[in-house]
Amino acid sequence: MKIEANGLSKIYGEGESRVTALDRASFQIMPGDFISITGPSGSGKSTLLHLLSGLDQPMSGRLTYDGQDIYSLSDRERSALRRRSIGFVFQQFHLLPVLTAWENILMPLLLDKKQPDEAYLEQLTQLLGIGSRLTHLPHELSGGQQQRVAIARALIAQPDVIFADEPTGNLDSRSGGEVMEMLRAVHEKMGKTLVIITHDNRVAGMADRRFSIVDGMLTEVGGR
Ligand code: ADP
Ligand code: ADP
Repeated sequence: MKIEANGLSKIYGEGESRVTALDRASFQIMPGDFISITGPSGSGKSTLLHLLSGLDQPMSGRLTYDGQDIYSLSDRERSALRRRSIGFVFQQFHLLPVLTAWENILMPLLLDKKQPDEAYLEQLTQLLGIGSRLTHLPHELSGGQQQRVAIARALIAQPDVIFADEPTGNLDSRSGGEVMEMLRAVHEKMGKTLVIITHDNRVAGMADRRFSIVDGMLTEVGGR
């Protein structure tokens, strides 16, 4: 899926408290891209992610998925498109504590009343690499394992794109490394498009394209 943003802007508040959270951002995310976005706290990263994933309306500008203007869709159509096309990974893993790892992973399929594709499930469990621990509850897993389960859940509905918001922010460097290895494999072996928001320069350095955002101004700063 190709994502194209043209002049995306978001302004919060009025008068004295007016904040330009995103200032005319224009860029293209091509199928299979691995992109990192870095920027200080308050620079507009969450705003950008919410606009990109169709969770929030821009004040102006256009956003298309494969040419389809997503803000011309109804809320219902847009949310269906989001569920089909995008997987989300968060800093706090957001696993349901009373479900096993495997049940957490399958949850999006239950919500969508879809059948798992066997070959895809096999590929996913290989990448996940926690074997017998799939029957454990989240609190019985390490932080890194929990985040890997969350990544598998993000992938279960076979989206084209993964948006990860500080996926290693809650982990020590070794677990963070394991999580990044899994994300790298998701990109290289499954061909998914990856967009990672991160404060960690080592994480950002793994991306093929690097963006920086400061005071709502997004710029591409290079790549590997
Ligand atoms: P980051 O994710 O980089 O920390 P945000 O996108 O959350 O940045 O915020 C960008 C700017 O927009 C900040 O100045 C923030 O205070 C402001 N902002 C974010 N959300 C709101 C909101 N709902 N109402 C008012 N201001 C907001
Ligand atoms: P934090 O950065 O505070 O640890 P998270 O990483 O858990 O927060 O979440 C990052 C952002 O993603 C939050 O602004 C939250 O509103 C948003 N978010 C939470 N759940 C979802 C969801 N299901 N889909 C899209 N965005 C979400």
